[in-house]
Amino acid sequence: MQPQKEDQQVERFRARCRQRGLPFTAQRRAAYEALLARDDHPTAEQVFEAVRATLPDVSRMTVYRTLELLVDLGLVHKVCHPGKVARYDCNLHPHHHLVCVRCNRLVDFEEAAFEGLPSPRAARRLGFEVDDYTVQFRGVCADCGHHGERRSEQASRRRRS
Ligand SMILES: [Zn+2]
Ligand SMILES: [Zn+2]
Repeated sequence: MQPQKEDQQVERFRARCRQRGLPFTAQRRAAYEALLARDDHPTAEQVFEAVRATLPDVSRMTVYRTLELLVDLGLVHKVCHPGKVARYDCNLHPHHHLVCVRCNRLVDFEEAAFEGLPSPRAARRLGFEVDDYTVQFRGVCADCGHHGERRSEQASRRRRS
């Protein structure tokens, strides 16, 4: 992410805090910056660890609450998948995810085919208003899967020869 864009995002956070009458504290800023600095969709705990590196006195509660505030302000999305801890996503551009079921890696992707999908008929039937959607593909990433397979293939080929 370009530093300029990051500054704009931090400015937007500052403005939203002001609108709500909330102080824009160094801790709040640091939590958002820690999230903006990475694209791996960290957990709250990972953001806390990153903030603590620069602000050793920050409390876990402050960081966790800041992340929830950012979600509430619409500046961050919470990515949840069942049975797993919530992950935070500062990429507000419409995008989708590839999820590795082995290492929990979560990778962003954009693809024209998944843009403008129609709302499911069930939603209309249930009176459910769809605002947004994310397509999530689960599987095994290159590091966890193919490499391992290739290595074991080579091993069995070696055994055969
Ligand atoms: Zn993986
Ligand atoms: Zn994402």
